[in-house]
Amino acid sequence: MRLSGKVAIVTGGAKGIGRAIAERYLAEGASVMIADIDAAAGEKAVEDLAEVGTVAFTATDVSDAAAVARLVAACEERFSRIDILVNNAGIVHKADFLELDEADFDRVLRVNLKGAFLCGQAVARHMVESVKRGGTPGTIVNMSSVNAVFALPDQVGYSVSKGGVNQLTKTMALSLAPFGIRVNAIGPGSIMTDLLAAVASDKGAEARILSRTPLGRIGDPSEIASVATFLASDDASYVTGQTIYADGGRLGLNYTVPV
Ligand code: NAD
Repeated sequence: MRLSGKVAIVTGGAKGIGRAIAERYLAEGASVMIADIDAAAGEKAVEDLAEVGTVAFTATDVSDAAAVARLVAACEERFSRIDILVNNAGIVHKADFLELDEADFDRVLRVNLKGAFLCGQAVARHMVESVKRGGTPGTIVNMSSVNAVFALPDQVGYSVSKGGVNQLTKTMALSLAPFGIRVNAIGPGSIMTDLLAAVASDKGAEARILSRTPLGRIGDPSEIASVATFLASDDASYVTGQTIYADGGRLGLNYTVPV
C-alpha cells in the first residue's frame, strides 16, 4: 500500500497503460480519477475497477484547456485533493515525413505534448497552492517513449511530441522543485496495447519489434504501472526531472528499425 490515502488523476486511464496504472494505484491504496476522451471505455473501467478501490471517471480531452479545468474541479469536488497526476493520454499517427498532413502533425502534438502541458500546469497550480497551505507536495509522472530518443521516420509527430515530453518534464521539475513537487517521465518500449497494434499490425511487425528488444518479448502494461508506482511513491523521494526507460533493453541498441 505504497500510495495509501493519496488521490491520483490518470489521463488516458480508460485503456492500455493508463488503465493498468489506475488499477495498480488503486491496489496500492490510492483513490483514482480516470480522465479519458473515450467516455464508454472510461465508464467501463470504473465499473471493472470498483472492486479494487475508490475510482471515478471524468470525460476529458486533455488538449482542451476548458475540459482540463473541469477535470481538476471534478477531482477537487469528489476527493478534495490531488496528490498525483499521470499525464499518460497519447495518440500515434503513421505517415512518412514527406506525406504527413499538417492536421495530423498538429493533432498528435496537441494531445501528446500540449495535453501534458495543460494538465501539468492546471494540476501543478493546484499542488502549489496546497503546499503554501502546509500540504504535502504532490508528484507528476509524464508518459514519454523510447521514441523521445530514437526517431521513427514514419512517426514524425509522435517522435517529436515525446522528445518534447522529456524536455517538458525537465522544465516542470525545475519550476516545481522549490515547492518539493517532483516531476518525472517514463519511456516505455513496445507495450501490448491498442496503440501498439495501430502501428504494428502488419505481418512481420512482431518479429521487427523483437529484433530490437534484447529481453526478447513485448512488454505488458503492468510493467509500466510498476514504474509509475515507484515514481509516485516516497521510494522516489529524491528523484526528479528524470525519464526512466522501461524498454526491454531497446535503448541499449545503437540502431533503429522502422516499426
Ligand atoms: P492506448 O491507445 O491503449 O490508450 C490511450 C488512452 O488515451 C485511450 O484510452 C484513449 O482514449 C486516451 N486518449 C486519447 N486521446 C485522448 C485525449 N485527447 N484526451 C484524453 N484521453 C485520450 O495507448 P497506450 O499504449 O496505453 O499508450 C499510453 C501512453 O503510453 C501514450 O502516451 C503512449 O504514447 C505511451 N507509450 C505507449 C507505448 C506502447 O508500446 N504501447 C510505447 C511508448 C509509449
